[in-house]
Amino acid sequence: APAQIAVTGLAVMGRNLARNLARNGFRVAVHNRSQGRTDALIEEFGHEGEFTAAADLPALVEALETPRKIIVMVKAGEPTDAVIDELVPLLSEGDIVVDAGNAHFADTRRREDALKAKGLHFVGAGVSGGEEGALNGPSIMPGGSEFAYAALEPMLTKIAAHVGGEACCVHVGPDGAGHFVKMLHNGIEYADMQLIAEAYDLLRHVLGLSASEIADVFRDWNTGDLESFLIEITAEVLSQVDESTGGPFVDVVLDRAEQKGTGRWTVQIALDLGIPVSGMAEAVFARSLSGDVVRREAAVGSLPGPSGKVSVDREAFIEDVRHALYSSKLVAYAQGFDAIRAASEQYGWNIDLGAMATIWRGGCIIRARFLDRIKEAYDRDADLPSLLVDDYFKEAVANGQEAWRRVVGVAAAAGVPAPGFSASLSYYDGLRAERLPAALIQGLRDLFGAHTYHRVDREGSFHLDWSGDRKEHDA
Ligand code: NDP
Repeated sequence: APAQIAVTGLAVMGRNLARNLARNGFRVAVHNRSQGRTDALIEEFGHEGEFTAAADLPALVEALETPRKIIVMVKAGEPTDAVIDELVPLLSEGDIVVDAGNAHFADTRRREDALKAKGLHFVGAGVSGGEEGALNGPSIMPGGSEFAYAALEPMLTKIAAHVGGEACCVHVGPDGAGHFVKMLHNGIEYADMQLIAEAYDLLRHVLGLSASEIADVFRDWNTGDLESFLIEITAEVLSQVDESTGGPFVDVVLDRAEQKGTGRWTVQIALDLGIPVSGMAEAVFARSLSGDVVRREAAVGSLPGPSGKVSVDREAFIEDVRHALYSSKLVAYAQGFDAIRAASEQYGWNIDLGAMATIWRGGCIIRARFLDRIKEAYDRDADLPSLLVDDYFKEAVANGQEAWRRVVGVAAAAGVPAPGFSASLSYYDGLRAERLPAALIQGLRDLFGAHTYHRVDREGSFHLDWSGDRKEHDA
């Protein structure tokens, strides 16, 4: 029988996705630009299911039942365009091309548009969970048309991760919606990791705990509200001992965090949407700073820090840091969901925000117990203006905020950078402030640029004649 689905691009992700499909009983046609990867897949894993190896794209297309479903899993960017360009002339009306790579959602919108004009369906699907997830059940965030999703759904929901019987795969919305949400997932992952790193840094440098003691703290935290994949693997990384030095593994790793770009994209787009994503922005900047060797070298040992030592109670401080971490994390998610809501409005995607939290409960890097809380929050109120005003979140932060403030204070006094904790706290305080100093900014803008201002007590725009009689005029 002809294959039900095809995968082209058989590096770690594509190979494992193809194996996942085959292991779940689907007949899979496979292809890779260089044949070696295809041969290796068949040789090593051919026994796992029904594979058809294709030497080139025409053979791949030929192997499929119609409407054809082809997953493209190649390097994002130009390679994806190259494969699509080669594929399109081989396809017939109604066929479905799925880009499961890490595409920018704007590229996905462009590609969807171009294929639609040719009578083809294009589905930009975010896939998270790395190679392990691709094999055993990723979190899948598909965009594209309802029709295309309906055709793919039986396969995608079968191979996706499952939590409590539910698949971590939901049709996100039209065109680029899936890739947008995947990008946001990565942005939140950046923020999450930065906050974890700050918690570690404070425990290490304010309390003077060893890496393995901090591993125990994270292990303990993983039994409560913070329970998540990232907290779990933090304990694992911190307990790792380096073979050659016998010291903590984390001490021999060069302290320059790298980035592939999805965190930066998230922040760039949030700037365009006018949505503060300070947790993610600080995470991206912190990685940039860590890699800025020239300026770090010039400053280390030269710029003075605090003179005194800060002393805190060990158990109390650990508990404070836990609260700071959880509260800052809630802010990062609240900001992330604000960005999804804003993009959904801007692009007409009609995204179900609560459903996004369910997609992330399994398979992906940010999988966490508390994502259920986000789903519940949107179940209570689908039009929730901010996650932070939902009762659960409100109470969680209310319980933690004094501790959070102490931690930010201690970090500043001790000279330990905590940009994620402090920016998130400032966002929280900004959000709840009755009056913001934005009024002064409007005053300044009116003085130097006649940019006008609104009043609290009357409708209209006004301008003060700053250089003349200082009388107010209608603008
Ligand atoms: P890579 O991103 O390293 O891409 C390698 C694959 O792309 C190979 O199959 C390669 O073929 C193919 N390729 C590159 N250029 C071309 C081209 N011009 N024409 C045809 N094929 C080309 O592989 P990964 O498996 O790591 O990732 C695949 C996609 O999944 C990427 O978009 C990535 O961003 C995304 N992704 C990756 C995750 C991960 O954890 N690695 C997680 C989630 C998404 P060849 O063998 O012939 O060189």
